[in-house]
Amino acid sequence: DDPIGDAEKEVRDWAKQKTSEINQLKAQEKFRKEFLSNISHEFKTPLFAIQGYIETLQDGMIEDNPDMAVSFLKKASKNLDRLSYLIHDLDEIAKLESGQVLISKEKFDIQILIRETIDYLEDKASDSEIQLKFNPKSHNPILVKADRKKIQQVLVNLIDNSIKYGSRGGKTQIKAIPLIDQILIEITDNGQGIEEKNLPRVFERFFRTDKSRSRDIGGSGLGLAIVKHIIEAHQQNVHVRSTEGIGTTFSFTLEKA
Ligand code: ADP
Repeated sequence: DDPIGDAEKEVRDWAKQKTSEINQLKAQEKFRKEFLSNISHEFKTPLFAIQGYIETLQDGMIEDNPDMAVSFLKKASKNLDRLSYLIHDLDEIAKLESGQVLISKEKFDIQILIRETIDYLEDKASDSEIQLKFNPKSHNPILVKADRKKIQQVLVNLIDNSIKYGSRGGKTQIKAIPLIDQILIEITDNGQGIEEKNLPRVFERFFRTDKSRSRDIGGSGLGLAIVKHIIEAHQQNVHVRSTEGIGTTFSFTLEKA
C-alpha cells in the first residue's frame, strides 16, 4: 500500500490528460485559423479581379473601346461564376464535415451514370480539345450500391479535373472494373501530372499546386476534399497515382450490388 504514491500517480495522469486536451484544442484553433485565412484568400482573388474590371469600365472603356469592354464584362462574369462555385463547394464541405449529409444508397448501373456524366461534361471537354473515352467491354450492367447523386458529384469533380489539368489534344480514359466485392472506377488523363511531393496533399481542402494556382485555372481547391469525404462516407477508398509530364489516375471503389 502506498497512498502517497497512488495520489501522485493520479495527479500525474490527470495532468497528462489535461495537457493532451489543451494540445487538441490548440490544434483545432490552428486549423480554424488556417481555414478562415484560406477562405478569405480564395474569395479575394475573384473579388479583386471583378473590382478591377468594373473600375476600368467605369473609367471610360465602354466608350473608348467597346470590344475590350465586352471582353472585360465576360471576364468579370467568369469570376462571378468562380465565386458561386466556391460558395457551393464550401457549403458542400461544411455539410459533409459536420456529418449532416446522409448517404442514401440505391442499386444502379454505374456505366449509365458514367455515360450521363460524360454527356454533361462533353462541351467543356471539347472546348479544351480533350476526348472523354469510356468503352465498356461488355453490354452487361455493372451494378453498384451507392448514393447515386453523390457519386455523380465524385465523377464530375474527377473528370472535370482531368479536363482542367489535361493537355490539349489529350484524352481521359474512364474504366469500371469489377473486383470480387467491389467495383473499381479509374479516371486516367495524360495531362501535366502531379509532383510526387504533392501527391499526399491533393485531397486536403484548399490545396492547389503552385502550377494550377499560377495558370489560374478556375477552381476552389475543394473538389478532391469533397471526393474523399463522399467516398469515405461510403466506407470505400480513393487513391491517386501520377507521373509528372505523363499523366494522372484517380481511382475509387464502390460496393458491388
Ligand atoms: P481545384 O479546384 O484546384 O481543381 P481540387 O481539390 O479538385 O481543386 O484539386 C486540388 C489540386 O490537385 C489542383 O489544384 C491540382 O493542382 C491538382 N490536381 C487535381 N487533379 C489533377 C489532375 N487530374 N492532374 C493534375 N493535377 C491535378
